[in-house]
Amino acid sequence: MVEKCSNCRGNPATGYVLIDKWSGMGSDMEFPYCSERCRLEIMSAAERVRRGAPWFLWGLVVWLMLALGLIVASIVSSSRELMVLSPPLIVFIGGGLLVAFPLVASNAVPMLGIRAAERFARQTGAVMMMAGVGFYLLLTHIFMG
Ligand SMILES: [Zn+2]
Repeated sequence: MVEKCSNCRGNPATGYVLIDKWSGMGSDMEFPYCSERCRLEIMSAAERVRRGAPWFLWGLVVWLMLALGLIVASIVSSSRELMVLSPPLIVFIGGGLLVAFPLVASNAVPMLGIRAAERFARQTGAVMMMAGVGFYLLLTHIFMG
């Protein structure tokens, strides 16, 4: 069985490119590719992941601390504004992280291929951001209106 291209998932592989650091997916991974164009896209995706991974991890830490802080603050202060703002804000920022670092956050690469996984993660992030805004408007309407 010929492996499919790990970038487009459409064509059978004609060769392998060795990526020595792909954050979250182990080191020294071989990615099958079908064409020169896909080989270049795999290499630039790997570079985006390599550069984005530390920022993503910091973003995740900040996001978790903010989420915890907001939850605790809402409970302690029993402030209605905070309770209405906190859950949507947490969802919104989580979505923003996905939009900014789609590949770092995506576990769908082996299944979907790099190109589709990146698009999928970005779209998920964008939907989360919109859901956060919608959620906020809804909560405001229910609790503040
Ligand atoms: Zn391809």
